Amino acid sequence: MHKIDMDLVEMTLDVMKYAIDRISSSKIKIGKPKKAEELKALVGETITDKGVGGEYAFDLWKKYLSKTNVPVDHPRNLAFVPAAPTRAAVMFDLVTSASSIHGAYWMEGAGGIFCENEAMQWIVSLTGLPKGAFGVFTSGGTAANLSAMVTAREHWRENDIFKREKGLIITSIGAHSSIKAMAKVIDVDVLLVDTEDVLHGAELKQTIEGLTDHERKRLFAVVATGGTTNAGIIDDLNTIGTICTQENLWFHVDAAYGGGALAANSVRHLFKGIEKADSITIDPHKWMFSPYDCGAVIYRNPELAKKAHSQEGSYLDIFKDEGAHGFNPTDYQIQLTRRVRGLPLWFSLAANGTDKYKEAIERGLELAQIAGRLIEENPIVELVREPSLSCVLYRRIGWEPEDYTHWTYKNHKKGFALVAPTKWRTGNTFETVSRFCFINPDTTEDDINAILKSME
Ligand SMILES: *Cc1c(COP(=O)(O)O)cnc(C)c1O
Repeated sequence: MHKIDMDLVEMTLDVMKYAIDRISSSKIKIGKPKKAEELKALVGETITDKGVGGEYAFDLWKKYLSKTNVPVDHPRNLAFVPAAPTRAAVMFDLVTSASSIHGAYWMEGAGGIFCENEAMQWIVSLTGLPKGAFGVFTSGGTAANLSAMVTAREHWRENDIFKREKGLIITSIGAHSSIKAMAKVIDVDVLLVDTEDVLHGAELKQTIEGLTDHERKRLFAVVATGGTTNAGIIDDLNTIGTICTQENLWFHVDAAYGGGALAANSVRHLFKGIEKADSITIDPHKWMFSPYDCGAVIYRNPELAKKAHSQEGSYLDIFKDEGAHGFNPTDYQIQLTRRVRGLPLWFSLAANGTDKYKEAIERGLELAQIAGRLIEENPIVELVREPSLSCVLYRRIGWEPEDYTHWTYKNHKKGFALVAPTKWRTGNTFETVSRFCFINPDTTEDDINAILKSME
């Protein structure tokens, strides 16, 4: 029999109480950062020979450290791409941790991976990809993009005439920074079509026609964006997909942020052509209400991903015996050991039903429309462009870039809101503007009004 350690029981209860308070509280605060030196002065040495004790360390967390974080699910956190994990998902994140599941191989993680796959099936169904398409959960959009790009490059290199070539991909300047960063990782060049607005097939074709023969030989993939991070712009996936088919190029759609909107009937048509993709990135930790971290990469032909990513090792062979046969997530993305990070999403989908997801995503879209209307009615601000998905870019008339920065810090310091400026490009000029990105369905019209009022 185990000796029951009362301290441990108490600490477990404390932690559970904290978690319950946190996810059920409607009054979470926007924390503000402190310098590392200030935090050190507050908490002192925490890593010692004998340990400072769980209760003491937890107190430090509650008193000082937790307060310097910005909760991504605060209804007035509209900066970058915020998030709003469901209660069911957060609670099951605790269960996922407590269950200690190795999510690389079916043999060890069958039940967890089964659940992940149920959730994945729903996501894949939203894309309209044909039967056989499937995906796997990753640590985020960056890892999903990398996994897809590796698959594309390896597939291209199967042909001997490309073996010695350095690859080239085309995307637009509206694409997320991770595309360029991951191109560095796999040592391929990136050609950026010069538009932050919608990329159309015609521009892509023109760009391809402008390549030298050698560049054309090196070109193996095109990355379009299904909802740019900055402005929510969806490239013309249909015409881009057609060009990729004609030119025999891998067509990747990065819908890390926008992918959730595939579930929204009101905007689903904007993604027409996504079903032509060879691979798609969607981040459940953005607009599918999963806790961090949870991305997804989906392949039209998962066998190609398996060829690119399957890891061999003599010590791994035993995992592949009878009965252990099943879906091995490690075969389809860059990671070996992995958390079953799709498990919280599965539980939340199962508990809430997909209709609730559709409604919550529609609410984000609606909030962007509401913000658009409030901005048009307000004489001190104006829209930079029509709201797109749940992103709204607008300017405060008469403001210089430093006014936006000052305003952001002031609101953040007060613990009132986090709304960050961004840059929008017209021709060759970059204008600093303000930006909302709505994810949390609990954001209200009053929240938006109050934020606009703080610009007076
Ligand atoms: C956020 C984002 C990424 C990066 O995803 P992470 O989960 O932060 O790694 C990639 N592409 C797009 C379009 C994004 O919005």
